Amino acid sequence: NKIDLHYQSDSHCEILPIIDSTNQYLLERIGQLTSGDCCVAEFQSKARGRRGRKWFSPFGSNLYFSMYWKLEQGVAAAMGLSLVVGIVLADTLRSLSGQDIKVKWPNDLYLNDQKLAGILVELAGKTGDCAHVVIGVGVNLTMTNPDTNIVNQKWANLGKVDRNLLVAQVAKTLKSKLIEFEQHGLAPFINDWHRLDNFANRPVKLLIGDNIIRGIAKGINDQGALLLEQNGKINAHIGGEISLRMD
Ligand code: ATP
Repeated sequence: NKIDLHYQSDSHCEILPIIDSTNQYLLERIGQLTSGDCCVAEFQSKARGRRGRKWFSPFGSNLYFSMYWKLEQGVAAAMGLSLVVGIVLADTLRSLSGQDIKVKWPNDLYLNDQKLAGILVELAGKTGDCAHVVIGVGVNLTMTNPDTNIVNQKWANLGKVDRNLLVAQVAKTLKSKLIEFEQHGLAPFINDWHRLDNFANRPVKLLIGDNIIRGIAKGINDQGALLLEQNGKINAHIGGEISLRMD
């Protein structure tokens, strides 16, 4: 199950055996890239999550993928873009594995209430109103979630997913959905998010620094904010410092 991209992909995709971080690799090459260019690696020694947290990326047929995108609407749209990436990744993995994969606001995929994949969108720079972003994706196809160490039988099926096909489909679908997002914003994606939302109508807590806010998750609005029902009222929460948890 080596990645050699024998499936057709209209993106330029570089295949790297070992790298510090696929995001970092593209961030250092922004001037040479066009939207949709991507890279994959078999192993990452310094993969990161949000706020400098570590993303475990051992050898073993997982997916470590990054794509460059020139975001015409500017940096304010990066939040929405990250939600579109989650939808595309969840739907592609669902169709290839048959597993009930879900999205978790703002940047993870879940399977059986465990984190299966993380998405990290990083800003590389700006030209006028445009933001240059790198979209990073790590998917546990064979490895166990390092936080829970729960051996999940259903996980095993994901190991059978053809990674070449997965990369080709994710790259192709991402390009077309990101163009749709640039033209129409998040509105066309709201129903998809609700269909895939792991937390919809469940009691959750938001961790914002030392503060905890409790409520019932009610999906997202068309700005990409998380909607939370609190005392009968729906409030929108947005921001990079928020972590969502089951309550
Ligand atoms: P949350 O929103 O849940 O607080 P996050 O989405 O901000 O977390 P990230 O920064 O995206 O988390 O990812 C880093 C965290 O994910 C790590 O701190 C660790 O808990 C967890 N993690 C790291 N590697 C993996 C992996 N391969 N699979 C699942 N979880 C991982």
